Amino acid sequence: MIKKITDNVYQFDPGMVNCFVIDDSGSITLIDTGFTGSEEKIFKGLAGIGRKPTDIKQIILTHLHPDHSGAAAAIQNMLHIPVYASYKDGELIKQGIGMRESMIRMPGLISWLVFNLVLKKAPKVIQPVNDIIDLADGQILPILSGLKVIYTPGHSAGHISLLLEKQQVLIAADICMNTNGLDYSILYEDVPLAKQTLKNISKYNFDIGCFGHGKPLMTNANEKMSKKFS
Ligand SMILES: [Zn+2]
Repeated sequence: MIKKITDNVYQFDPGMVNCFVIDDSGSITLIDTGFTGSEEKIFKGLAGIGRKPTDIKQIILTHLHPDHSGAAAAIQNMLHIPVYASYKDGELIKQGIGMRESMIRMPGLISWLVFNLVLKKAPKVIQPVNDIIDLADGQILPILSGLKVIYTPGHSAGHISLLLEKQQVLIAADICMNTNGLDYSILYEDVPLAKQTLKNISKYNFDIGCFGHGKPLMTNANEKMSKKFS
């Protein structure tokens, strides 16, 4: 089921991850794509808001992990649309690499359980995406009234978050999660860098925060994240 975040922003789960849809007068931007094979579920999600696959005009990948970038190649091949990502993660996605080796698991029982029951077995390769357009830090894409790219490294070196400045919606992706309350993600490539990223994000204006895993924070997201990660 697709969940409405604002009039133009939707969240849905094609399986163990959230993808986001920005609907700009019928022109769809898909943010993240789920695991390989998720395309049909994504199209079903879109049908829930009366849109069809060919309404997708571009894909933005927040980072390389297989639960986010897995179906990008299939959708690109089908629709011949541009795929955007940061250079650092995009270079690996082009090679079909869905994860860097050096992931560190955060402490805690939930983290241990999720890692051992789910993540350890998850695929680490993806179908390579042939063509990726690099996104720069601070770049503003002409989507709705402007979608700002914010480099948020730590979970992965090339991780990005996306901010709809006018709507004050932050698509934070995996800088943290909100599955069982707001918390650190299970895995990071670089924990100190990820912690710095979580502090830096508080300088941006947003009221709604959306994550790759768990529920969105529909009010005072900046305040809640600042409090949790200060
Ligand atoms: Zn991830």
